[in-house]
Amino acid sequence: MNRDEKLLVVAFGGNAFQSKSDKGTPQEYWRNAERASKLIVELVSEGYKIVITHGNGPQVGIIAEWMLAGLKLKKLPPMTLDIAGAMTQGWLGYLLQQTIHNSLLEANLLGSKVKGVITVITQVIVRRDDPAFKNPTKYIGPWYEEDEAKKLMNEYGWIMKPDPRGGIRRVVPSPDPVNHVEISAVKKLVDEGFIVIASGGGGIPVVKANGRLFGVEAVVDKDLAGERLASALGASVFMVLTDVDRVYLNYGKTDQTPLSTITVSEAEKYLVEGHFAEGSMGPKVLACIRFIRNGGKVAIIGHLYRGIEALRGESGTKIIPGP
Ligand code: ADP
Ligand code: MG
Repeated sequence: MNRDEKLLVVAFGGNAFQSKSDKGTPQEYWRNAERASKLIVELVSEGYKIVITHGNGPQVGIIAEWMLAGLKLKKLPPMTLDIAGAMTQGWLGYLLQQTIHNSLLEANLLGSKVKGVITVITQVIVRRDDPAFKNPTKYIGPWYEEDEAKKLMNEYGWIMKPDPRGGIRRVVPSPDPVNHVEISAVKKLVDEGFIVIASGGGGIPVVKANGRLFGVEAVVDKDLAGERLASALGASVFMVLTDVDRVYLNYGKTDQTPLSTITVSEAEKYLVEGHFAEGSMGPKVLACIRFIRNGGKVAIIGHLYRGIEALRGESGTKIIPGP
């Protein structure tokens, strides 16, 4: 597929909304989103067309807490995960839409370079026979006491497992994303000059049967879904921004080594060697590998507040084609 030199897909990590020390107040959400929006202004100034995706783990957890409170009051039945995911796309999309709008306006870029900022509620297709459905691995929501957990398992068919960090938690499958239902709408909006926020939280997982779509109880990894989005749109640059400055070998050990530029083959070797933790850095590196293997020009993993430096190679880790 032809790659658009100036099309960039950026995946925001959890710290774009809630940093590790935050309580999760609306003020903190606005402050964090506003800070993240400054990067978008810089990218627009550099001439990039931008599609944004983002995580939603903590927010799905918060919705699960609200659900639990509702259950305890014996008033509100629990929501399904696909509906919870859609809620977070609206919630976080709204924060980004408004803060990016305001930041572009301030920089005199709204209307001239960018027509507007828009969130697309996005469904992502997963395979009904994905092995992940037989082996749920993703912990979500609150920690429960044993008797409470048993009750929820019986009543709602939830699968609950002891969390290695203590307590009992719900686990859900994390199937591999295949493609996005709304991809052509996203492309149209980008071509029309909009900044698009899509596939929030990895997209709302759905399966297809006889052409019809059905939401499923699963959580798709946002970095893996972000790659599907970036590749399908023909982006040249895929940027994954998180809370570390670079990808490291032997991360957390005394001999940890930061990586600046590596080839896709080197990345594959390090991934197999187990340098990147499952569920955090692992899917980011895998997503970048797939992006390059699918024809992307450069994939970047870096810190949320050093996006421009990462693009210039002054920070972050670049994964590029090559042996
Ligand atoms: P996000 O919300 O951005 O997806 P994650 O917590 O999922 O954030 O992933 C980022 C985390 O990955 C870092 O905070 C870091 O602790 C962890 N990590 C695991 N392995 C590595 C590695 N090899 N190099 C850098 N960070 C790593
Ligand atoms: Mg993550």
